[in-house]
Amino acid sequence: MKRILSLILMSIMLAGCTGGVKNSDKPRIYTSFYSVYSLTKTVAGDKADIINLMPQGMEPHDFEPTAADIMKLSKSDMLIYNGSGIDDWAADIEKTLDEPIKVTRLYPAPDRDDPHTWLSFENVYNELDTICEALCEIDAANAELYKENKDDYEKKLKELQAQFENAGFGGKKMFVTHGAYGHLCRELGMEQVALEGIWDLSDPSPAKMAQVIADIKESGAKCIFYDPYEGDDTALAAADEAGIEAIPLSAFETDDKNRDYYTVMSENLEQMKKGLK
Ligand SMILES: [Zn+2]
Repeated sequence: MKRILSLILMSIMLAGCTGGVKNSDKPRIYTSFYSVYSLTKTVAGDKADIINLMPQGMEPHDFEPTAADIMKLSKSDMLIYNGSGIDDWAADIEKTLDEPIKVTRLYPAPDRDDPHTWLSFENVYNELDTICEALCEIDAANAELYKENKDDYEKKLKELQAQFENAGFGGKKMFVTHGAYGHLCRELGMEQVALEGIWDLSDPSPAKMAQVIADIKESGAKCIFYDPYEGDDTALAAADEAGIEAIPLSAFETDDKNRDYYTVMSENLEQMKKGLK
């Protein structure tokens, strides 16, 4: 796949692409996948056009941009991507983009232990700060508004974070299929036990399944959480075997209802209260 991407990039550079006509005066900003898109939209409000490169409903572990996607970027003002390793393809694209297109990378280097940075509230505050600074830089006329949007949202999130902290999750084990919740668990003093990998979403081996089911039984856990966009087959098989429930919990890698981070995390809080009581 990497090789295909570099061939696409090379052919676009040779062709001197001119795709993606801009038809508004607002800054046009592309984002790499849903969590970056949603956080950027929250700060930008209606003062910038935010376009997600990853199609709705697709999740970032499987995504590679097409030549047409890359061409659209040539008429944009900015590309924002996470940079923690989940959207490595964006780092390849960055090399091909010339001034005046600004590129904002939220993390300077991949985090091979866990790229799901946005599932930590503290990380999200930093991500919002970086996004806000970048927007203010390319559109100084609306800087006050961007800062106000960011501050208001951060205030709401801090209240939600306090609700997570006061829910009594500390010290508990959280069983999940896809290991996306490591940052959240660390922040809440919990331990994540994942059936599948953090990077590799393939089905667990029978040995791994048996080991996690034994762990569930020993810990007395009442449920296993799964990301609904990943499907529930593995979670239901494990839940059935261990005699527990399977409960959906969004990793906010995508969202087909176009919901924002606060809304999804509020729902996650209720799901966690249900599954961890
Ligand atoms: Zn993931």
